[in-house]
Amino acid sequence: MENEAVEKARAQIVKAAQKMAGQNMLPGSWGNISIKINKNAYAITPSGRGYDNLTPDDITIVDAAGQTLDGSLIPSSELPLHLAIYKALPEANAVVHTHSIYASACAAARRDIPPLIEDMVQIMGGAVHCAEYALPGTETLAQNVIKAMNGKRAALLANHGVAAWGVTLDEAMMVAGIVEKAAQLYCIAQSLGGAVLLPQSDIDAMHGFYEAHYRKRQLGEE
Ligand SMILES: [Zn+2]
Repeated sequence: MENEAVEKARAQIVKAAQKMAGQNMLPGSWGNISIKINKNAYAITPSGRGYDNLTPDDITIVDAAGQTLDGSLIPSSELPLHLAIYKALPEANAVVHTHSIYASACAAARRDIPPLIEDMVQIMGGAVHCAEYALPGTETLAQNVIKAMNGKRAALLANHGVAAWGVTLDEAMMVAGIVEKAAQLYCIAQSLGGAVLLPQSDIDAMHGFYEAHYRKRQLGEE
C-alpha cells in the first residue's frame, strides 16, 4: 500500500468531516465518511469521535473484509454499509453517511423524496428511495440500502439518515448536500399543497446530461 495515497485519503477525510460538521450534516459524532484507496484498502472515520478535533491519525485504514490495516481507533460502526456500497457499485470511490435534518425527517416518515427539483434529478435520475428499516451497523441495513439505491447515488435509511456515494469525495459530499436540500424543499412544498413532480422523460434527459457531461466538467475532465 502506497503511504502517499493513505495519507492523502486521511487528510481529505479530515477536511471533509470538518466541512460537513460545520454544515450540520454530521451532528455530534454521528455520520461517517470513507474513501476507497484501492480494492483492498479503505480509509474511514473512527467510531464515536467528534469531528471538531479529528486529525489524520484518527482515520482508520481497513481492508475489504473490514479488518484494520492501520490506525489505533475503532472504525465507524457503519463500516459494513460503506464496504457493501464499494462492493456493489465499483464506480464508487467515496461514501458519505449523514444525519442531516430534513433528509432524516423524510427517513423518519419512511417517505421517498420524489423527483421534484432539477439538481436532484440530474444526479439521481429519479426519486431518492427510503430503504427498509434495519438496526444501525448491521449487514441487513447495508443490503437494504444497496437495494434502495438500485445503482443510484443515494438512499435514505429509515428512521436514521442518508447514504450517498460519488466517483470522488467531493461528488459524494455534493450528493449528500443535494439530497438534504431536496428533502427540505419537499417538506416545504408539502405545506404548499405538494410539489408538482418532473416528468420521467425530462428526468432522463437531465440525468443523461449530468452523466455524460456535467460530472466531467466538475471533475475538470471536459
Ligand atoms: Zn448513522
